[in-house]
Amino acid sequence: ADRGLSVPPRPQDMDWASLFPDFFPADPPPGYSPPSVETLDVGCGYGGLLVLLSALFPQDLALGLELRPRVAAFTAQRIRSLRAQEPSRCQNVACVRGNAMRNLPHFFRRAQLRRLFFLFPDPHFKRTKHKWRIISPALLAEYGYVLRPGGLVYTVTDVPELHQWMVKHFREHPLFEEVALGQLASDPLLSLLGTVTEEGVRAQRGGRTPLPAVFRGAPPINPM
Ligand code: SAM
Repeated sequence: ADRGLSVPPRPQDMDWASLFPDFFPADPPPGYSPPSVETLDVGCGYGGLLVLLSALFPQDLALGLELRPRVAAFTAQRIRSLRAQEPSRCQNVACVRGNAMRNLPHFFRRAQLRRLFFLFPDPHFKRTKHKWRIISPALLAEYGYVLRPGGLVYTVTDVPELHQWMVKHFREHPLFEEVALGQLASDPLLSLLGTVTEEGVRAQRGGRTPLPAVFRGAPPINPM
């Protein structure tokens, strides 16, 4: 699945300017420094969340990482078309092909991200396939590495067993703490998580209930 992936050797080698040209002007005004990507949609599929994020947070750069080449190409093209139709639109979101289970520390510095999304990840139902799940103790260590303390991870699935799996692993991991959904009443994202993406729409049409959860990057533990 990783064939043909183009991965930067180190985060500082990533060419963000080609993905977000409006934020990397050739002739920047004095004192201008471009923003960093601080939002990541893991397995972004056809990009429904990215389009929403673009409108909700127009100054924040967001990246979608998608493993399937055709889907990544479709979503990148969708964003290009939206930019072409309306030049003020979608300049702050982009999609690249990448494997979030292998490549995250190549794209992002430690504590670079403040929002991380896992919307309707593949359930890999069979027990023998659980090792392919995008949430696992080893991978949580990587997600915790790229997420800043206080940053938020949003998950949603329509598969109750996968929801329980994700909640269990995040709860057990020292780099994360669960956020009670009631604490996020003013968060515009929470109510949209289950329906904003293509997979969410499919679940809704099938009458399946989205099960959201949110976790916060825990503050670093001070050495004694
Ligand atoms: N988040 C989208 C949505 O809600 O519509 C897509 C959900 S789809 C069920 C899961 C997506 O994750 C697929 O598009 C798949 O290709 C992608 N994916 C699976 N493993 C991945 C990985 N290791 N890195 C990046 N994307 C991955």
